Amino acid sequence: ASGYSLLRNPQHNKGLAFNEKERDAHYLRGLLPPACVTQELQEKKIMHNLRQYQVPLQRYVSMMDLQERNEKLFYKLLIDHVEELLPIVYTPTVGEACQKYGSIFGHPQGLYISLNERGKILEVLRNWPERNIQVIVVTDGERILGLGDLGCQGMGIPVGKLALYTALGGLRPSACLPVTIDVGTNNEQLLKDEFYIGLRRRRATGQEYAELMHEFMTAVKQRYGEKVLIQFEDFANHNAFELLAKYRKTHLVFNDDIQGTASVVLAGLFAALNIVGGTLAEHSFLFLGAGEAGTGIAELIAREMSKQTKAPLEETRKKIWMVDSKGLIVSSRKESLQHFKKPWAHDHEPVGNLLDAVKAIKPTVLIGSSGVGRTFTKEVVEAMATFNEKPIILALSNPTTQSECSAEEAYTWSKVNLVILVATCPISAVIRDFSWGSIFCLKTGLPHSQGRAIFASGSPFDPVEYDEKIFVPGQANNAYIFPGFGLGLVISGATRVHDDMLLAASEALAQQVTQENLDKGLIYPPFSNIRKISAHIAANVAAKAYELGLASRLPCPKDLVKYAESCMYNPVYRSYR
Ligand code: NAP
Ligand code: MN
Repeated sequence: ASGYSLLRNPQHNKGLAFNEKERDAHYLRGLLPPACVTQELQEKKIMHNLRQYQVPLQRYVSMMDLQERNEKLFYKLLIDHVEELLPIVYTPTVGEACQKYGSIFGHPQGLYISLNERGKILEVLRNWPERNIQVIVVTDGERILGLGDLGCQGMGIPVGKLALYTALGGLRPSACLPVTIDVGTNNEQLLKDEFYIGLRRRRATGQEYAELMHEFMTAVKQRYGEKVLIQFEDFANHNAFELLAKYRKTHLVFNDDIQGTASVVLAGLFAALNIVGGTLAEHSFLFLGAGEAGTGIAELIAREMSKQTKAPLEETRKKIWMVDSKGLIVSSRKESLQHFKKPWAHDHEPVGNLLDAVKAIKPTVLIGSSGVGRTFTKEVVEAMATFNEKPIILALSNPTTQSECSAEEAYTWSKVNLVILVATCPISAVIRDFSWGSIFCLKTGLPHSQGRAIFASGSPFDPVEYDEKIFVPGQANNAYIFPGFGLGLVISGATRVHDDMLLAASEALAQQVTQENLDKGLIYPPFSNIRKISAHIAANVAAKAYELGLASRLPCPKDLVKYAESCMYNPVYRSYR
C-alpha cells in the first residue's frame, strides 16, 4: 500500500511517530514534516489540546477524530488518562453527544441497520471490514442513558461502550462492532430536526420489530459464529427483558442495563458492608425506579442473599422494595403490573411517594434507578439519616443531569446529628451536632461527625470537602464490570452467560477495594487501576464458565489472571519494517 493510504489508515497510522527508516520503507517521504516524535510526546500534545477546550462536547469530537485518525494513540491516551477521559467518551458527555449527534456527525462509526436493510442484514454485516468479531454492542436507541428515545443517534453509546471494552478490558478494537438498529423514533423533536440522521418515522413495534431483531440475531451468529458476545444496551424495558429472555437460550447475550448494573451495584454493596457491617440479608433495600436497572439489581441481591442464607428467593425478595412512577409497588395495586415488577409487589398499604416510602420501609440502602434527576431531596436523605448511622445511598441515574442527588448533597444532608446522653460529653459538641428530627445514642459518648452517607453515583462527582475531611464519592458504573466480564467470556470461549458469572464478577470487583479506599468512604476502587481490575474480573468470570461447563476453550489455563492479562490489547506502536 502507498504511504499516503498508510497515513489514512487509523489502525496503522502513527503520524509523526514514523521514524526515518519507516518513512523510507513505506513511501512516506515528503508526506510528513521532518520532526520525528515519540508516542509519549503525541499524548502530551493531545492532552494539552483537549484541556484547552472549555466545552466537553468539543473534547468528545476531538477524541472521536483521534479514534478515526490514529487508533493506537486514542487507546493509549484513554488508558493512561482514564479518570480524566472517561467522562468524555462515556457518561456524561456521550449523552450530550447523542442528543446532538446529527449536528456533530462527521465520520460514520459502527454499523447502522435500519428497516431499510430488512432481508439483507447478512449482506450488511459483510460490508463491515472485519471478519473476526468477538463483541457486539447493540442499541435501538429507545432509552439512551436517562435521556429517553434518541433514535438512530444512540450510536454514540455502542461506540463509547466498545471504546471501553478495548481501553478497560483489553479487547482488540478490530474485534469490536458497534451496531444501531434503527426502527424509527418517537422523539418528535428529532423527527423535526433537519440534521437528524435516522429514519424519519415512528418506531416499529410488535412483529415488525421482533422480525428485524430476529434477522439481526440470526445473521450475527451466521457470520461470526457461536461465541460472539452480543451486549444489549439502552433498549427500553418493554423490549429489553423480552430480548434477553428470548436470546439467552440460543446466543451469548448479556444486557448491560439489567445484568451489568446489577453486578456493579452488588460489588459496591459487598464493599459497603465492610464499612457499615452486617450481612446482605440483614439490610433492607428501597429502589426508586423499577425498570431494567432497579429490578435487575434487586434480583441479583435477592439471589446472593438466598445463596448466603439458604432461604428461598421468594423470602429474600421481601427485603427489597420498589417505588415506581405510581408509588410503592404493593400487592394490592389495582392496575396490572408489568411482569418484571411482580416479584417486588409485597404486602403493604399503598404509599404514594418516595419520602413516605422511605419513612414506612426504613431501608438501610436507598438506590435511585429511575432516570429522573433531583429525586433524592433533602427530606429523603435526612430521613435516611435518622434511622441509619451510615445510610448507603446510590444515585445511579445517568448522565449527571439525571442524578438523584449530588455527592455534596448526599454528604451534607446526611450529616448525622447526635443527641448525646452521656455526661462526659462536652456540651458544645452536643449543641454543634444537635438538630431536631434525628436522635442517636452513642455507645462511646464521643461526638463524631463521620456518620455520613456512603454514596456512589452512576456519573462521576468530584470529591467533597466537608468539616475538614475529604469524602470521595465512588462511581457505581457498569464500566467497572462489562469490559472485564466480556474479556472473561472471550478468553474462556464461553457459549452462554449464566447469572453466577455476574456474581463472580461482583466478587472479583469487591476484592479490589482496599482498606485505604474504604477509609475514604469509597466503595469502588479508583478507575486508574482498571486494567488490573478487569483482568481479575475476567479471570473470575472465566473460572466460573469452566466450572459450569460453559467454556469451550480447553484446557483451562493454570493462572487465569496472568492469562487474561496476556490476552489484553496493548496500544503501543509497532515498528514497521
Ligand atoms: P427503565 O427500565 O426505563 O426504568 C425506569 C423506572 O423508573 C421505571 O420503573 C419507571 O416507573 C420509574 N420512574 C420513572 N419516572 C419516575 C418518577 N418520576 N418517580 C418514580 N419512578 C419513576 O430504565 P433503566 O434502564 O432502569 O434506567 C434507569 C436509569 O438508570 C437511567 O438513567 C440509566 O442511565 C441509569 N443506569 C445507570 C447505570 C449505571 O451503571 N450507573 C446502569 C444502567 C442504567 P414506571 O414503570 O412506573 O414508568
Ligand atoms: Mn446503558
